[in-house]
Amino acid sequence: MSTIAELLRSDKLLQDVTIKGWVRTFRSNRFIALNDGSTINNIQCVLDFENTDESLLKRINTGAAIAVTGTLVESQGKGQKVEIQVANIEVLGDSNPEEYPIQPKRHSLEYLRENAHLRIRTNTFSAVMRLRSALSYAVHKYFTENGFYNFHAPIITGSDAEGAGEMFKVTNFEANKAPTDENGNIDYSQDFFGKETNLTVSGQLEAETYAMALGKVYTFGPTFRAENSNTTRHLAEFWMIEPEMAFHDLDMNMDLAEDFIKSVIKDVLSTCKDDLAFLENRLLQEEKSKPANQRSEMSLIEKLKFVSDNNFKRVSYTEAIDILRNSKPNKKKKFQFPVNEWGVDLQSEHERYLVEKHFKCPVILFDYPANIKAFYMRLNDDGKTVRAMDVLFPGIGEIVGGAQREERLDVLKNKMEVLGIEEEELWWYLDTRKFGTAVHSGFGLGFERLVQFVTGMGNIRDVIPFPRTPQNAEF
Ligand code: ATP
Ligand code: MG
Ligand code: MG
Ligand code: MG
Repeated sequence: MSTIAELLRSDKLLQDVTIKGWVRTFRSNRFIALNDGSTINNIQCVLDFENTDESLLKRINTGAAIAVTGTLVESQGKGQKVEIQVANIEVLGDSNPEEYPIQPKRHSLEYLRENAHLRIRTNTFSAVMRLRSALSYAVHKYFTENGFYNFHAPIITGSDAEGAGEMFKVTNFEANKAPTDENGNIDYSQDFFGKETNLTVSGQLEAETYAMALGKVYTFGPTFRAENSNTTRHLAEFWMIEPEMAFHDLDMNMDLAEDFIKSVIKDVLSTCKDDLAFLENRLLQEEKSKPANQRSEMSLIEKLKFVSDNNFKRVSYTEAIDILRNSKPNKKKKFQFPVNEWGVDLQSEHERYLVEKHFKCPVILFDYPANIKAFYMRLNDDGKTVRAMDVLFPGIGEIVGGAQREERLDVLKNKMEVLGIEEEELWWYLDTRKFGTAVHSGFGLGFERLVQFVTGMGNIRDVIPFPRTPQNAEF
């Protein structure tokens, strides 16, 4: 048995072939468009309907699973080189056309989200998810080829790396039955792990301990954040790619982030041509309904080539603030959140302005004010900024957050004290600074934001199989 992708690549003309897949459409009692998931392309199967049982014909419905045996011949029809002249057809699994939710027409993305278990049978979702798979492979390939070891960070942890308070608790206590101590606080010493635990928000702290022994490591796993915002860029469960490198400073870290992103995009540009062409065309159709001045200047593939062939712009936070203060983003000449003073955190409108309007290319912002970044970042000699960097992308905003880590034990302890982080909680993390500390750095890249950029999908819910967002974990 072959896949359709294999058949379309091969020169098996006039040979007998067998294909199993799902019916997309059945026209004139004669033409079946069959798809088996191996490619965006359907194969046309031509039935000799006069010699096919009437009751069998009635069972060839959209969504049914069938097995087809026949001869591969040159196609007379438009849009396909080959087709199968059917000798035998078997229905493996029926699909009632009255009930099947995926009809051969364009459904809205909102409707398909309500059918997340079946939306993968559409062209759009199969293309997106094949690209997601190819990108995942490209990620592992890139790091392996560049001397990194894959490190599996724990999913259940006792730490909050980002200090943003967005953790999902992990507990064995039944609701409202948790034991309390004399002060009325929940007594976690009696819980499953004997302490308070949560789902990881980032594997970074653990990855640092591994980098300080294996040199270069990366984690690529699920992370969890109780984001109560409903945006097109945030999920409660998302996959993060986190490399961490000993003896690498911030400049080397920025070099890696840029090279990594360009490489994986180049990889899928060459391995996923058909799916990208389909998604590009899908976007072109969408663009047609927009007013001319809001249409994108580049097509999807042009954009991917542009990003992977050109340098990202590197700008310090301080320079960025100067640019934003002197900018006129729209007719009202104002941002919704005006940038009045040095030290404020940038909003996504500012990030997108820098990328899309000012520099017109991906931007790496670095040296942020210490007070708006996490505790573990390397303090600069100015005492005010830290060696942090964010990579900002067109249409996406922040795609990477990274930093050179604070390697000096005394400075790190001091910072933790200021922020009220207990040393006992992170004694193991501090040990990396106590024993053989060294300059090291790393970053976190949200995998779904990368998939969004590569596929051109506007909503992050449409690039992960079963999205987790507030009030939504149906599947
Ligand atoms: P944002 O400012 O967009 O909320 P963040 O600064 O909170 O992101 P980091 O802690 O820097 O995020 O995480 C590293 C990367 O993980 C981000 O650059 C982004 O690509 C991704 N990311 C963060 N939060 C989410 C989320 N809720 N859903 C999907 N991806 C996310
Ligand atoms: Mg966030
Ligand atoms: Mg951020
Ligand atoms: Mg960040």
